[in-house]
Amino acid sequence: MNQNLHYEIHEFKFGKLKYIYPVISRRLGGLSVGINLVNYCNWDCVYCDAPKTVNNESPPQKIDLELLEKELNEVLTLIITHKFKIKSKLKSITVAGNGEPTLCNEIGEVFKIIANARKKYSLSSDVKTLLITNGSRLEEEIIQNAIRILATINGEVWFKIDSIIESSIKRINRTRVNAANILNSIEVISRICNLYIQTCFFKFNNTLPSEAETCEYLIFLSSIKNFIKGVYLYTSSRKPFASEEDVRIEPASLEYLQELNSKILQLGIKSKFFK
Ligand code: SF4
Repeated sequence: MNQNLHYEIHEFKFGKLKYIYPVISRRLGGLSVGINLVNYCNWDCVYCDAPKTVNNESPPQKIDLELLEKELNEVLTLIITHKFKIKSKLKSITVAGNGEPTLCNEIGEVFKIIANARKKYSLSSDVKTLLITNGSRLEEEIIQNAIRILATINGEVWFKIDSIIESSIKRINRTRVNAANILNSIEVISRICNLYIQTCFFKFNNTLPSEAETCEYLIFLSSIKNFIKGVYLYTSSRKPFASEEDVRIEPASLEYLQELNSKILQLGIKSKFFK
């Protein structure tokens, strides 16, 4: 098995493993054991090349829980016994991957497997368990029950909100979500588990978000500050499909992210930014 890990490349494959992919995470500042449950998404973000579901419908998803557990144990054994070439501290077990993980109805079982592994390898509270999600199913009971398990294993939910304006959500995430749904999910999930907002800022066809749009975003953050633990800002790194000639995506500058980060901090909200 190739045990080289790189900072820049987040491949969702590691050797012959189907579900588990260790990466060096810039955001977490160390090693993260990724779990890729589904290879498709019900959204179609302009900066993302994850395969999309047809007509916004998710095909039935069955995962091999036994195999997932075996692979997780295999990779954790490699880490615990210092077999990786890059020496980096384990920071998290992250349910994310090449698509939207909550499209897997067995996600609660996956959190139970992680709970067992955390116990088996005596992982300390320095190691988080993360769910990175677009939030589209957070209003559903099956997902909320799964998050109840996540909350017991040093869990955090990282909820993607790139804009709070419906027309922009349609343009960036190419889906239909309204602010009322987002707010409802935030209120419900924050009562169950630690909740962070993660937002991707970038240049879309040479243009950064307008001042009015950024202002709306800041007002929204201010309104939910008692529900969230913090905000993570980042910029685009994955390339969109090459066939989309009319869509030009470029990363936002470090200065831009830094300035925005300062404005969020001024609201009394913890915030970090990543290039
Ligand atoms: S960025 Fe996340 S929500 Fe958007 S299309 Fe990719 S996987 Fe889906």
